[in-house]
Amino acid sequence: MAIRQIRKIGDAILTKECKKVNEMNRRNRQLVEDMFDTMYEAKGVGLAAPQVGILKQIVVIDVEDGNQYVLINPEILEKRGSQTGPEGCLSVPGKHGTVTRPDYVRVRALDEEMQEFELEAEEFLARAICHECDHLKGELYVDLVEGELLDNEEEDE
Ligand code: ZN
Repeated sequence: MAIRQIRKIGDAILTKECKKVNEMNRRNRQLVEDMFDTMYEAKGVGLAAPQVGILKQIVVIDVEDGNQYVLINPEILEKRGSQTGPEGCLSVPGKHGTVTRPDYVRVRALDEEMQEFELEAEEFLARAICHECDHLKGELYVDLVEGELLDNEEEDE
């Protein structure tokens, strides 16, 4: 188990575009494992590789639906509907804001074995996928917030 340091807003790496992953090797496998460890330790539901300082198109998500999603080189193929609700980010600690996202997405990605799969997602999972895929383009949710970025009521520490 290895916890990596989570990069915070203001760090230039969070504004950069990530490169596609061409092969699964020991280094990338370790990265995926560490991303899950880091996300769970920080009590997050999603984490993108640039958030731990690696400019690769890798996302991990666990919205407590019984799945641990690994999305490598994800591509959102379809978006439908809209949902407006609170959103936060491990790279923007102690804050949240209202963001409108699609209510449904269909995404194509590679799994940890570099096998292509498609995933249909609704509601919170759709929101998480959009949020994490934005990280791979160097985009943060704070630029999408409607109104003010708000302080969380309870700090975890
Ligand atoms: Zn985020």
